[in-house]
Amino acid sequence: PFPTSDKIWMDGELVDWDRATVHVLTPTLHYGYGVFEGIRAYPTDAGPAVFHLRAHLERLLQSAKIYPPLDTIPYTVDELCEVVCDLIRVNGHEGGCYIRPTIILGYGEIGLNPLPSKPQTIVATWEWGAYLGEDSAVNGVRVGISSYRRIGKNTIPPAGKANGQYLNSSLAKVEALRAGYDEAIMLSEDGYVAEGTGENLFVVRDGAVLTPPLADGPLGGITRASVMTIARDLDIDVHETSLVRTDLYLADEVFLTGTAAELTPVREVDGRVVGPRGPVTERIQSAFLDAIHGRNDRYADWLTVVD
Ligand code: PMP
Repeated sequence: PFPTSDKIWMDGELVDWDRATVHVLTPTLHYGYGVFEGIRAYPTDAGPAVFHLRAHLERLLQSAKIYPPLDTIPYTVDELCEVVCDLIRVNGHEGGCYIRPTIILGYGEIGLNPLPSKPQTIVATWEWGAYLGEDSAVNGVRVGISSYRRIGKNTIPPAGKANGQYLNSSLAKVEALRAGYDEAIMLSEDGYVAEGTGENLFVVRDGAVLTPPLADGPLGGITRASVMTIARDLDIDVHETSLVRTDLYLADEVFLTGTAAELTPVREVDGRVVGPRGPVTERIQSAFLDAIHGRNDRYADWLTVVD
């Protein structure tokens, strides 16, 4: 069953979870023209705190800028930060939660031209556990390289988080799950490793950490950027560099990062063993867990405490 909470914020109104509905002819439902974010709040000694709240809401507005008229919503990043914190308070997520803001096209037009539609802003929160399985953070996951390529720069721009682009991710996810894997790895149109279906990817080789550059099509993940900072702070070399599939087969360690998946080790790629969780992955993961739970003052400004 879907984990529910009390209220959903819809353009200034706090609506009961069960009544938070849109019309069946809402154009975003038909064409996927909308944008969204995924954010998490964690329990800390100071109460629940949202990880990189501002960065996520800035990315929401950047995604909206790619898709006019979604960028005409009347809220600033500061106002949206307040909305998220208020909603967490209202819904009483003391132990943390997942946060889903989305901007959709409102009901009223149904043609392919989105410009006459009025955007609507919605924020929901709920309590959500480990995305790739309860034991995945320790035991790692098995991944397969997808036959679906990651959306290209001039098809659906991978820099945005648009609802419709996740058709691409879901096709790869279904293929992977049906083949018995936990997650899919997607290559770019020209065959370089891009990322998972909702996670960025890292390889550990000779003690250094490697991740595909944005030019190879991954989303500029906020967890990805945080993990790169953490690794450098641990004196680990970090390089953004193009990777091919055999770089994954022959890696010392592989791991995935994302808001939903947090930092999840990979133990197998296309049946080649690259696990169990390795020492570099474990060091970075442990520092990451400290950062998100407010246990390292160095990263205190990555958290917005909801008081
Ligand atoms: N790649 C894709 C395709 C995603 O949907 C996500 C989740 N937003 C990520 C990577 C990870 O990004 P972040 O760390 O910002 O959640």
